[in-house]
Amino acid sequence: MTTAGPVSLFAGALALILVASSGAAETGPAPGVTPIAVEATPEQMQEAVATVRAGRKMAPKLWPAGARVAVALTFDIDNETWWRDNPLPVPLSEGEYGALEAVPRILALLDRHDVPATFFVPAMSAILHPDMIPEIVRRKRHEIGVHGWVHEEPSTLGDQAVEERLLAKSVAYLTQVAGKRPTGFRAPSWDFSPYTLEAIRKAGFVYDSSMMAMDEPYELLSHGKPTGVLELPPDWIGDDYPYYEPSATGSLPSPDAVYAIYKAEFDGAYSEGTLFILSMHPQVTGRRSRITVLERLIPYMKSRPGVWIATLGDIAHYVNEHANSR
Ligand SMILES: [Zn+2]
Repeated sequence: MTTAGPVSLFAGALALILVASSGAAETGPAPGVTPIAVEATPEQMQEAVATVRAGRKMAPKLWPAGARVAVALTFDIDNETWWRDNPLPVPLSEGEYGALEAVPRILALLDRHDVPATFFVPAMSAILHPDMIPEIVRRKRHEIGVHGWVHEEPSTLGDQAVEERLLAKSVAYLTQVAGKRPTGFRAPSWDFSPYTLEAIRKAGFVYDSSMMAMDEPYELLSHGKPTGVLELPPDWIGDDYPYYEPSATGSLPSPDAVYAIYKAEFDGAYSEGTLFILSMHPQVTGRRSRITVLERLIPYMKSRPGVWIATLGDIAHYVNEHANSR
């Protein structure tokens, strides 16, 4: 087993540790990041965490039509990008499965239940499978969001200009193939460099979906200042990868357990009246035994009164229109 697959998904320090273990990188902080020393002063502690912090809570009192919870089904179509560091035929075929089998299976499921979803797409995935985005877009209820050029992790680039150039290329490419400029960004591997927030703010994104400081929508702060960028926070519990990743094989063999976790997270969001986001990958969740989790969960959620299943873009728009109504 190579570490190329898992490495690509883990953010921050964990990625560095795993990459280091494969001999591909040095240990230590990402470029431009200062570690917090054992003798750090209060000012140094504050400064070290200030790049991106949580600002005001943004969940509205009620969601559209009086709904009590907003639900977003999101899919990161990473496909072959996980193996770009060592693109050998067999692992690449796992990524190919995402486009050939998993995305069509997921689209059919979403059609059957008549629900929208948000798809975050690295440009490379769209380039390798040119029919994929048109298939998603022709449903007319799904959203396409930006997820890097080749799923590059911003903190590993160490260059603000390069990061901004790749972001601009990604936006331009997806705009062209989707026929509409994306308004949402999810960082590849949920990885932010010291420059990422400024880059997405300058590029005009309405929302990000990478940070994890709250359960509900919130505004991102940069060095203490509001940025106007809305965060719609995902989290590892609502991600399919940790449960099914190759090194987890056998430790959690049953998708029934994943269903129980997702259902409990939804039930909690429902009782709190806020937001429930699932972050999945077609090549992970779109397998025959695993798609059953969504096949059960979507009807369960729809059976509860007051559940608004929407794209993150629609949720972001509503939140920004109704901020401070709580
Ligand atoms: Zn990804």
